[in-house]
Amino acid sequence: MNIVVIGGGLAAANAVAELRDRGYTGDLTLVGAEPHLPYERPPLSKGLLLGSDEPDSVFVHDRAWYDEHQVTLRLGTRATGLDRDRKQVLLGSEELPYDRLILTTGSTPRRLPALEAGSIPVRSLRTLDDSLALKKELAGHLLLVGAGWIGLEIAAAARQAGGEVTIAETAAWPLLGVLGPELAPLFAELHRSHGVDLRLSTSVDRVEGAEVLLSDGTRVRPDLIVAGVGAVPDDGLAAHSGLATDNGILVDARLATADPAVFAAGDVANHDHPSLGRIRVEHWDNAIEQGKHVAGSVLGDTTPYTRQPYFFSDQYDLGMEYLGHVGRRGYDELIVRGDRANLTLVALWVRGGTVVAGLHLNDWDAADSLRLLVGATPENLDALRDESVPLPRPDEG
Ligand SMILES: Cc1cc2nc3c(=O)[nH]c(=O)nc-3n(C[C@H](O)[C@H](O)[C@H](O)COP(=O)(O)OP(=O)(O)OC[C@H]3O[C@@H](n4cnc5c(N)ncnc54)[C@H](O)[C@@H]3O)c2cc1C
Repeated sequence: MNIVVIGGGLAAANAVAELRDRGYTGDLTLVGAEPHLPYERPPLSKGLLLGSDEPDSVFVHDRAWYDEHQVTLRLGTRATGLDRDRKQVLLGSEELPYDRLILTTGSTPRRLPALEAGSIPVRSLRTLDDSLALKKELAGHLLLVGAGWIGLEIAAAARQAGGEVTIAETAAWPLLGVLGPELAPLFAELHRSHGVDLRLSTSVDRVEGAEVLLSDGTRVRPDLIVAGVGAVPDDGLAAHSGLATDNGILVDARLATADPAVFAAGDVANHDHPSLGRIRVEHWDNAIEQGKHVAGSVLGDTTPYTRQPYFFSDQYDLGMEYLGHVGRRGYDELIVRGDRANLTLVALWVRGGTVVAGLHLNDWDAADSLRLLVGATPENLDALRDESVPLPRPDEG
């Protein structure tokens, strides 16, 4: 058999490793548009910007690993089309045959062309090269458009580098969609207490020359604009070949498309999750675990992918982890245990008696409890509400 993986990111690196771990000995090729070996993106907005991580530390495997595991690397090479009838990947004028194809093309930052109307440079942060370029500019005046996770991490790094930071966020609070009105204000306070000029319910009206006009009537003159307004899945390759896409490549519970030879994983996969329904997850853990899972599916394993979405963030002295998914169905109750003022707490979102999501801020001991609780329907919710009762730990059932 001959397996080709398109996309040189985290999902791709984990897929090829898992294929070899499971004993697959056939041909294996990884095609990646970037010139770099597959790497981890979380450090790009954290340790790399802060200078606490070296660029060399981000790679999933070193080059020798791919040689030892007989993975043919086609880096700096963009797949330009798929001929699914003839089972060929098009690389410009070249064709690459496959028996099984794994699409892990990830996502790309959303652009706001209006930001590019003036003379101020506009950047986004997705790649290693973006991060290395941004690091050199952190000490200036940054206007961040969008207070999502990546934007807030850039803000923290810039403040720690002595930069001036203005953030324009259209929502009433940063991270409102994920954290809700109960917890999102904590992140506004965190950044303001570190000197960030955070403008909420504020958008960019227009950019004129070196000046940005904000919807609150003020003007700012940043050295650099960074757009942090989300990402769109890179599903064009799949769509043009006739595969079903809708906010990502549509895959079933085990990450297979309707074409029995083609699978997808990571940011680009819109997955039919057995308990959460259709979901596309743009997180590190999902890229790793779906990358591994899809390898099993390609080799004939029919197990569905059931893992709960998980992500983490680090901003200043705050570390946090979030597990689960609230989704459109919302929640009936939010249980908060701990100390909001000191940003040390555990929060549990509950719907119909089931804990649908949970997070901790700076309470790493709670991570195991969250794994136990999220997705479960505890018999005694009062015990969770009562802070004098410790959260259940895995060894206690
Ligand atoms: C700055 C930053 C910080 C982050 N921090 C966190 C964090 O703290 N916690 C967390 O949980 N998640 C974080 N994430 C998200 C996480 O990194 C992503 O979910 C993960 O990288 C997705 O992996 P992937 O392999 O699916 O896609 P990607 O990492 O996007 O890789 C896809 C690769 O495919 C390539 N490609 C696309 N089209 C083609 C083509 N036609 N031919 C060949 N190659 C192609 C792309 O160039 C890219 O290199 C962060 C992301 C960014 C950008």
